Amino acid sequence: MTDPTVPVPPWASRLRDIADFPKPGILFKDIMPLLADGADFAAAIDAMVEPWRGAGLVAVMGIESRGFILGAAMARVLGVGFVPVRKPGKLPGRTLKQEYTLEYRTDSIEVHADALPPGARVLIVDDVLATGGTLLAALSLAQQLQVEVVGAAVLVELAGLGGRERWDANVPLLANLVY
Ligand code: AMP
Repeated sequence: MTDPTVPVPPWASRLRDIADFPKPGILFKDIMPLLADGADFAAAIDAMVEPWRGAGLVAVMGIESRGFILGAAMARVLGVGFVPVRKPGKLPGRTLKQEYTLEYRTDSIEVHADALPPGARVLIVDDVLATGGTLLAALSLAQQLQVEVVGAAVLVELAGLGGRERWDANVPLLANLVY
């Protein structure tokens, strides 16, 4: 944690580091052990949800695929809708697309063009913020949809990779754990 004044929640011990996945040099933050424990999964979701209670959200936009798990659980707790942001070619209806650059290639994500009405208040959710390209692409998709992005929530921020610096400073970005 970068901020020693913020206590580390007990469920944080359920996250594990897996070296060299999916390729050499990447230290992968694996949330699967957290998801597998009912009490700790619930505690993590409650912690992610807490700042957004009363924010007047209409929906959570979750990013494929671990953002689906966290985002859908958060949406259920908040009693709001869930809109999947998917990898290309997965959504059956007409889509909006946003390309983004990864280390050696470009990728893209999509959302249904009619997923939400313009002005709907949404929260963007993913599991890990690394270089920020994915979250920023989701923000661009939301802007194409003309919804109002109230904020973004990630369980884990990898602070050394510059994601927060790339993010739009006008939109609150909250991380429960910062490494
Ligand atoms: P980025 O676009 O670089 O911020 O990468 C964020 C996306 O890639 C998220 O959807 C994460 O699930 C995944 N990701 C990137 N780096 C890691 C990591 N070290 N551990 C786990 N997931 C990661």
